[in-house]
Amino acid sequence: MDKYNFSGKKILIAEDESTNFLYLKALLKKTNAEIVWAKNGAEAVEAVASQPDIDIVLMDMMMPVMDGKTAAVEIKKFCPQMVIIAQTAFALFGEREEILAAGCDNYVSKPIAGNLLLEMINGYLTKIQ
Ligand SMILES: [Mg+2]
Repeated sequence: MDKYNFSGKKILIAEDESTNFLYLKALLKKTNAEIVWAKNGAEAVEAVASQPDIDIVLMDMMMPVMDGKTAAVEIKKFCPQMVIIAQTAFALFGEREEILAAGCDNYVSKPIAGNLLLEMINGYLTKIQ
C-alpha cells in the first residue's frame, strides 16, 4: 500500500517550466490526486476562481505574466481558505517572510524533496477533510 492516498483531491500545480511540472505530476501520480496545470500566475488565479473543487495549490514563485506571490495575494482575496504551498528556487534570507506575507501557507525550496512535499500536502489535506 502506498503511504499517501489523495483520491478525490484536486491539486493545482502552478509552474511555468514543463520539466518541473512533470516532476511534480510524477511525484503525485501514485497518490491518485487529480492534477491541474496552470502555466503562470494569471492561469492559477483563473483556475481557482473557476474550479471550486481545487483543494490545494503548489505555487511556483517565478512565473511569467503574473508571479507566484501576486497570484497568491489575488487568490487569498476571494478564497482565503485555499492552502497555497510556495515553491521557491532561492532560499535568500527574508524570502520566507515575503512568501508568507503574500498569503502562502508554507513553502518548499527547489530542488524539491519529494517526501517532504508529500508529507506537507498530506498534513493540509488531512486538516481539510
Ligand atoms: Mg518558474
